[in-house]
Amino acid sequence: MTNDESDSSTCPRCDGPAKLYAEDKGAKSRASEDRSITVCSNCGTDEALRAFRRERLALPDEWPVKELLTWPRVPRSA
Ligand SMILES: [Zn+2]
Repeated sequence: MTNDESDSSTCPRCDGPAKLYAEDKGAKSRASEDRSITVCSNCGTDEALRAFRRERLALPDEWPVKELLTWPRVPRSA
């Protein structure tokens, strides 16, 4: 048995899996003070997109968030 809180398997922001793949380091939430809270990569993307769109970020008090933004689909060049 291990008791390693730093390796939590659930993202505190979206309640989803913290790691999308084995080596996934997640992201530091920009809504947390000093970026001290690690969230999943999807949440990192969501926060980056909301910041880009000048939307207000959900604070840790308001987590878990319901919807995550994703990058718009970009057509691949042939
Ligand atoms: Zn998340």
